[in-house]
Amino acid sequence: MMDSLVKQVRAVGGNVYRRHLRRDVPILCLHRIRDVNGAGPAKLAELLDHCADRYQTITLGEFATILHAGRALPRNAVVITFDDGTIDHFTLAAPALAARGLSATFALIGCTLFERALPPLHAYMHLIETAAGRSFRFGFPPVLAERDWILDADGKRVLLADDCPLRRIVQAGDPALAADVVTALGETLGIPLPDASDLFVTLDQARALVDAGHEPAGHSLRHQDVDEPDRKTWLRDLHADFDVMNDAFGRRPHPYIYPFGRTRSPDVHARIRDAGFCCAATTQWGANRRGDDPFALRRIGIDNRTPIPWPPIYR
Ligand SMILES: [Zn+2]
Repeated sequence: MMDSLVKQVRAVGGNVYRRHLRRDVPILCLHRIRDVNGAGPAKLAELLDHCADRYQTITLGEFATILHAGRALPRNAVVITFDDGTIDHFTLAAPALAARGLSATFALIGCTLFERALPPLHAYMHLIETAAGRSFRFGFPPVLAERDWILDADGKRVLLADDCPLRRIVQAGDPALAADVVTALGETLGIPLPDASDLFVTLDQARALVDAGHEPAGHSLRHQDVDEPDRKTWLRDLHADFDVMNDAFGRRPHPYIYPFGRTRSPDVHARIRDAGFCCAATTQWGANRRGDDPFALRRIGIDNRTPIPWPPIYR
């Protein structure tokens, strides 16, 4: 009696779970392809094998079009996103996707495409890691409001000096000020800044990704925090970033991916939409359903610690 009840409950639970899976569209979020603070090549291969077996990839822009139209979501759809446009997305991720016939959305930082400039935050992280000779996990706002920190490879929190320039870089409304801070840090550490081409995809490489069926997405002009206090500069840069996307890839629906993955300002969604972007993705954990706000899409962060298949999504 008890056994059959348990079986019934399990059967109902299983059905609910399967229906739930069909209703939800997971948007996977990856950063650099590396074993510390990212998903390494082996984890990427495991993830993409799973996606090729169980899902059909659609791009973020295609998903936004479906959401805007209120159409039924395709069954077993998944969106794969890569943030920041680092060079390993071209050298490692793109071939791994191509080998499995999958498409993805690549969030590109505007200044790396035409100016070949380094986003200050990424230049900063590069300098710290080069000086230390190893990789770190970096802490970002709102943690920075309390104190700057990075995590070492074992996940141990390491506090930086009180006058660590990371906070100033992140919050600098003035990109020139942020660049000055990075340059000064490089001089202090005695490490020259690398060429942008060493760290980020070039415009030609980004266009080759698009030609191969992938999709570009805006990710701000210099990876500024959308909640930075200087709203005027942020708005100007947001519109400039949309122009960069059109200049680089032509007029098409351009998705946006929030730098630092989120916003605390309720009017930001409308500003992103007004600038011309078709949707925006956060790093808030979860999947997405019909009727969801296309400018607050949830994603599932994937790194070496994430089990594949990723855990079921309840919300
Ligand atoms: Zn980013």
